[in-house]
Amino acid sequence: MDTHCSLETIVLEKLESLINNNSQAAAVFSNPNYRASPVQILAQIARGNCYSDVNSLARTISRRRRRITDWERGDLIGKGSFASVYKGYSNEDKLFFAAKGVSLNEHRHICHLENEIAVLKRLHHENIIQYYGTERGEEMLYIFLELVSHGTLEQAYKNCRFKQSQVSHYTRQILLGLKYLHSCKVVHGDLKCANILVTELGRVKLADFGLSKSMEDHSQCLKLGLGSPFWMAPEVAKLKRVGYGFPSDIWSLGCTVTELSTRKHPHYNARDAFNLDRAIRSGKGPVVPDYLSDTLKDFINQCLQPDPNQRPTAADLLAHPFVNESSCAQPDLTELLLLF
Ligand code: ATP
Repeated sequence: MDTHCSLETIVLEKLESLINNNSQAAAVFSNPNYRASPVQILAQIARGNCYSDVNSLARTISRRRRRITDWERGDLIGKGSFASVYKGYSNEDKLFFAAKGVSLNEHRHICHLENEIAVLKRLHHENIIQYYGTERGEEMLYIFLELVSHGTLEQAYKNCRFKQSQVSHYTRQILLGLKYLHSCKVVHGDLKCANILVTELGRVKLADFGLSKSMEDHSQCLKLGLGSPFWMAPEVAKLKRVGYGFPSDIWSLGCTVTELSTRKHPHYNARDAFNLDRAIRSGKGPVVPDYLSDTLKDFINQCLQPDPNQRPTAADLLAHPFVNESSCAQPDLTELLLLF
């Protein structure tokens, strides 16, 4: 049996039913030249979107159109400062997801979650947690999200000592997510390893958009707080939410990569909270240890430039040698099949 050919047939059949709602895909499907090559079909669709490879596009297409109305709440899988995250099970399509909920009695917490919903519902990218829907019950407001099984990047670095090539691999994916986010005119506002989730395939997803800011929507809730001080850019420490911009995410990225490389929260030579605030406002970044490689230090130092206008964009940083050290696996049909 020609395995390659039969795999193609299966993929093609699956794809046909998965993406028949997508007009761009439909146009490609109607072209007889493409019928023999599903990977080509996906690549063609991927080109018009922001996906790094065909697998990620297929994964997103296959999952993003879920509607969850009949579901069961399972175990608590995480707790942040304002929301509790549970495993959810959909009785309709029998799939698991994450249900992040806040009590309707907590006004400030609702504000955070509503902000997260407003931002996430517009985003579709392999390195950004996928939004599935919302439910407002009598007691709780829930946001339904893609379930990411391997915890946060902070939990991961506490368990494993990453080599520089792994730090480079994760940083590249964070940058791809950030580049897409900024192209959608959204600032994350709280980038750090605890807000980045890891899948079993080693993909990372930016999560926790409660403090994110749309640079286009000026009707956003004003009572939202600020991100954590150790990752905070000098202009945010000085101007609060007005200081948020794409460069402030790049500063936080520099702190996040320092965190990932040292396996510790960014460290400042400051005795107390007052001195920490003073150090951050003055544009002093966290300590970047000398033992890190020159390429890595250069990457971090570019992100930690005190003047936000001097910081590179996410797109600029994707060309930096540090994030081009790891080789990304090429998609193949077998991996593609695992997605269905
Ligand atoms: P913060 O205190 O940073 O504002 P939060 O209240 O917004 O946190 P999250 O950080 O979004 O809550 O989630 C809390 C925890 O739940 C995370 O640290 C993570 O362990 C887990 N979690 C969140 N989203 C998911 C998900 N989609 N899949 C799996 N686990 C998740």
